[in-house]
Amino acid sequence: MSETIFAKIIRGEVPSHRVYEDDLVYAFLDIGPVSEGHTLVIPKEPAVTLDQLSDESAAAVGRALPRICRAVMEATGCEHYNVLQNNGAPAYQSVFHVHFHVIPKPEASQGLGVGSWPVRQLDHEQAAQLAERLRAILGQPS
Ligand code: AMP
Repeated sequence: MSETIFAKIIRGEVPSHRVYEDDLVYAFLDIGPVSEGHTLVIPKEPAVTLDQLSDESAAAVGRALPRICRAVMEATGCEHYNVLQNNGAPAYQSVFHVHFHVIPKPEASQGLGVGSWPVRQLDHEQAAQLAERLRAILGQPS
């Protein structure tokens, strides 16, 4: 996978409105904000999707995210927000470097619009099998 614009932003080769940086994490304002304060939080590690991220970078992003959310809330005066994280082009990822969107939701008509979710009924028999399989993959006790 070729280098993304986010790698260049991390190195300062492409300008960005930086809001946070530490050894493993960088955060900056989205160039196409869905609402004021729309911020992207990214690991410096060039992982394409979340499942590819190292535990160390994941922990660093996890630590920084709530702090950045609080800062966005304070700066925008917005009580509500969405955190969005897309993986893969069919899942609406357009920049192939892991990133978390922090999108303030000032009111129902602004910010992220999710529309109606295609909610289905859970089949408990299938769900039990699937949960068992996931526990096995994750090395959890059955
Ligand atoms: P996604 O669709 O989840 O991959 O989101 C990629 C996001 O990156 C979009 O919201 C873009 O507006 C944002 N983006 C792309 N290029 C830049 C840039 N140079 N600076 C800031 N945000 C960017």
